[in-house]
Amino acid sequence: MSRSEDIPDQTASLTNHDRKPIHIPGSIQPHGVLLVVNPQLEILQVSNNSQDHLGKTTQDLLGQSLNCLLDHRQVEAIKQCWEKQIGSVNSHKVSIITLNEKRYFDCIVHRTEDAVILELEPTDSASEVSFLSFHALVSEAIAQMQKTSNLTEFLQLVATEIRQITAFDRVMVYQFDHQGAGSVIAEAKRQDLSPYLGLHYPATDIPKSARDLYTRCMLRFIPTINAQPVKLVPIENPITQQPIDLSLSILRSVDSCCVEYHQNMGVTALLVISLIQEQKLWGLISCHHATSKYLSYEVRKICEFLGRIVSLELVHKVSQVEQDYKVRLQALQSEFIESISQADNFIDALIKPEIRLLDLVSASGAAVCLDNEITLVGATPNIEQVRALIEWADTQVSDNLFSSDSLPKFYPESIVFKNTASGLLLLRISQVRRYYILWFRPEVIQTVDWAGNPNEFTQVEQADDSVSLGPRKSFAKWQETVRLTSLPWESCELDCALALRNAIVGIVLSKADELAKINLELERSNRELASFAYAASHDLKEPLRGIYNYSTILLEDYAQILDDEGIEYLETVVSLSVRMETLINSLLRLSQLGKAELRKQSTDLNELLTQVIDVFRASRQYSELIDIRIPRLLPTVECDSVLVNEVFSNLIANALKYNDKAKKWVEIGYLDKNEEISTGLLQPKKQSSVPPVFYVRDNGIGIPEHHLETIFRLFKRLHSQEKYGGGVGAGLAIAKKIVELHNGRIWVESTLGHSSTFYFTLE
Ligand code: ADP
Repeated sequence: MSRSEDIPDQTASLTNHDRKPIHIPGSIQPHGVLLVVNPQLEILQVSNNSQDHLGKTTQDLLGQSLNCLLDHRQVEAIKQCWEKQIGSVNSHKVSIITLNEKRYFDCIVHRTEDAVILELEPTDSASEVSFLSFHALVSEAIAQMQKTSNLTEFLQLVATEIRQITAFDRVMVYQFDHQGAGSVIAEAKRQDLSPYLGLHYPATDIPKSARDLYTRCMLRFIPTINAQPVKLVPIENPITQQPIDLSLSILRSVDSCCVEYHQNMGVTALLVISLIQEQKLWGLISCHHATSKYLSYEVRKICEFLGRIVSLELVHKVSQVEQDYKVRLQALQSEFIESISQADNFIDALIKPEIRLLDLVSASGAAVCLDNEITLVGATPNIEQVRALIEWADTQVSDNLFSSDSLPKFYPESIVFKNTASGLLLLRISQVRRYYILWFRPEVIQTVDWAGNPNEFTQVEQADDSVSLGPRKSFAKWQETVRLTSLPWESCELDCALALRNAIVGIVLSKADELAKINLELERSNRELASFAYAASHDLKEPLRGIYNYSTILLEDYAQILDDEGIEYLETVVSLSVRMETLINSLLRLSQLGKAELRKQSTDLNELLTQVIDVFRASRQYSELIDIRIPRLLPTVECDSVLVNEVFSNLIANALKYNDKAKKWVEIGYLDKNEEISTGLLQPKKQSSVPPVFYVRDNGIGIPEHHLETIFRLFKRLHSQEKYGGGVGAGLAIAKKIVELHNGRIWVESTLGHSSTFYFTLE
């Protein structure tokens, strides 16, 4: 396996030895020469082996124009590099006369931000590989690869073809997992070598900086890993005073840790081809050879080309099983989303049938959480454990989707329920409400074959006496039992979960839209109804007054010509029209309330009640009977005092009216939060926003249970007209309307024959 040219991230944090970033080593491998030139093509830097390859010392070359090495045509071709994009690579065959001898080189040119880099690699022949021989080499390989039907077969063939072309001892295809650890998934090798197929390599074997370089640069070739690096002269670019960026250089020297890693593995020559899928490093084709091995630039280019073909094919050649699974998930997902979007209650549709929610991401358990309500499906931790897990997610998980196949790493408390939930896939549906769907997978104990103990590092003494950590010495198979881990969540399963979230958000939004429309419509029709009731009752009053007036005139002026029966009829007309006027006035009052704007102000209810009670005491009807008790001072609240006065007046009037006891009493008071909770009137969770609950209690006739709600309807009376002092049955309807205008609630509790208590809130 290829060891990247940097120390592992993990060791980096353990060592005080400060290493240079790997893309600016200031040196190259000795099998070629590197020249750095400015836009005028003057040589700024040169590798300290120019004498060997070109027959000219660094002093001969520095400050000179490229013309001193190359002919006019070759110089012109290099000049063009300035017009090209940074990073684009050109290659030419060039010839250079050195010490009266003509030598041929592959000249590979690329541009960095402030210089052009020329790399000259000696070659035997002057001629480029013809298109036809290139075609012959690759077309057969590609044809074979295209015939394969699944990923494993395809990559196995890739390894075989690359080994055939390069004649390296071992060619491996290595794939990264989500965490960056890799495993060998295909291998072609010399028969006598022991297989590496199936072995795993920790993510720290290839740290991020090396991965970045592999993503930018498709091919890395090291013919002799322990060859002495050659320094650039001068070491820094004299114009920028910075080390030159050798990220895209084919000769870049090899990091010492990488050298050691491969020497420990018995590797001398190394070729690494990057496999890129959707701009990400998917894996590597890594070729090892026990002795030094040189590959011509053309052969390397062919390998790079094949690497690109493999990268393109990766998208199509997913394994058949994976493909079938994806198709099945897609079908399930569409059916699921359709059914929840059509359901009246999509939350029910989510969990019925239970198996569908689990199958969607191949989970063995799930929990649907809507605020404090949690529904468990399948094998899950218990409800309290799920609740605690959601509380943790509330603060610790910021994304809408969180997944882990080893939850205890993030949330150690989950160890106790590892058998049901070592793996968690968590979907947050709302950022505002606590809406979550959680899926669980149980622990699956696995045995992983590592290429050597991944946690083992050797101590390396540095020149300055400090100690840094080097790569492991042994790559012999090392088995690890992995616990507290579930099967991994596949990216198609995560996609499915996200699609479900989008669908739910869509459904909720469209339901909210629908509700908003219905609300608007309701408000409009309520307004119309109130206007109609107002207009009708207002207009009815005038003819009614006429009926009343003419009836009284008839009674007063024509009584002598009417008999007793006639007079009695007329008196009934008068009393009915009086009653009708009361009814109309009530209707008018109610419709006015429908249109009323609240005039809220801070109101001391003690003062308000004093006014109400004074009115009762002034009235002759109640004066001598009144026993109104107020056990403690009432609070000051924000309300429309005129309307709340009306509520108390109506309730107190009823309390006195519907009472047949010799000693009537009325008690007015309120419950504080704790009393409300202990009486079961309130759920504990809502404590913080609890308004006081006011009550008016009497020792009157009580109300039958089945009328506890109907008495709030307009014109609903439980007694005949003449009983209990009469009335039209509007007082409670008006009180209810006023309470609701304050966003409050009104209700009654009663014991028939003994007492009634009317409760109400004002928010
Ligand atoms: P009204 O008093 O004009 O009939 P209300 O709307 O105020 O109209 O009351 C509706 C009915 O509810 C009353 O007719 C009565 O039967 C019943 N009711 C109201 N308050 C009480 C009470 N405190 N005790 C018993 N019954 C009551």
